[in-house]
Amino acid sequence: MKSRRWILALDVGGTNMTAGLFHDEVGEPLVLRSRSTPVAEGVGAVVARGVALLDEVRKEAEGAGVPPDRIVGAGIGVPGAVDPTRGIVSRAPNLAWNDVPIRDRFQEALGLPVVVDNDANCAALGEWWAGAGRGSRLMVGATLGTGIGGGIVREGRVLRGVTGSAGEIGHMTIQLDGRSCSCGNRGCLEAYASGTAIAQRAREALEEQRIRHREGGDPNRAGRPDDVDSPLPDHVGSTLSEDAGSILDSMVDGRWEELTAAHVSRAAGAGDELARAIMAETARYLGAGLAGLVNVLNPDRIVLTGGVALAGDLLLEPVRRHVRRQAFPSAAEACVIALARSPEGAGVRGAALTFRREVLEGHR
Ligand SMILES: [Zn+2]
Repeated sequence: MKSRRWILALDVGGTNMTAGLFHDEVGEPLVLRSRSTPVAEGVGAVVARGVALLDEVRKEAEGAGVPPDRIVGAGIGVPGAVDPTRGIVSRAPNLAWNDVPIRDRFQEALGLPVVVDNDANCAALGEWWAGAGRGSRLMVGATLGTGIGGGIVREGRVLRGVTGSAGEIGHMTIQLDGRSCSCGNRGCLEAYASGTAIAQRAREALEEQRIRHREGGDPNRAGRPDDVDSPLPDHVGSTLSEDAGSILDSMVDGRWEELTAAHVSRAAGAGDELARAIMAETARYLGAGLAGLVNVLNPDRIVLTGGVALAGDLLLEPVRRHVRRQAFPSAAEACVIALARSPEGAGVRGAALTFRREVLEGHR
């Protein structure tokens, strides 16, 4: 019997981290564990918890009959700019990390070879291996979370570009002189359609609604949109009817700072007009960005993953429509836009495959 090789994997998120153990030829984990990420306690605490989680996974695997010497290494996904050749996270705003030699720290602690990559590259590769990207020749993975990440997978390998930063689809400019982005630029897709941006736009729309309400404006001045998918100005609040308050306000007991994209998508699902307008506008922004990618790359698959993608058809259907309208017809026709099979498990799975590709197969 062919000897089995097992790979540890860790997906470090800004909120939670997930660890797993994978057979090198199977895209399903034997063991999977999750824990919160102690971001505020600094790099040392995050690494220590990651190592502890991986040790738990190792122990459980041993209990299940995996010989310790068959565990050959670990793949780690981190949300930020990663130099995979040196294993350094040059910048990870969600973790407040700069120039952290993360590969060496994990290697020392685990006593195993380690490979590090950007989490969105891992998620894209994970969906290609055993998710909605299976069988794709050229796939774009779009991770819609706190920020927007991306990974381009060509024939099963991540397209890295010349300096390793290819696939940063969240930082395509979709609006000149637009909203400020975490990258320092303005008008990036991420500044409009990330979870953070969706919550921010919802707060602004609520504020506009409150001001109009206070001013007791003419109720006929603004009509309700007939079709939530219709073109909307940047400040959608101004197109909403005056009388109906949004349920978003009561969902967080008036504490708007606690609003998240998940609230917005839940409220939209319940028919809330303001939330539906925000989601419709989000789909337009995403549609514009993805239509550009369809024209540039001509992919056969775009897979949406991350927390925002949990909105499901509410987002997927209008995004598909906008891409069909805006991209070259033949390219749009050839591209299936789908939701990730496992929005939360793709990253850790892809981290394991990254290790296999780069260490066991020797590809970069
Ligand atoms: Zn940006």
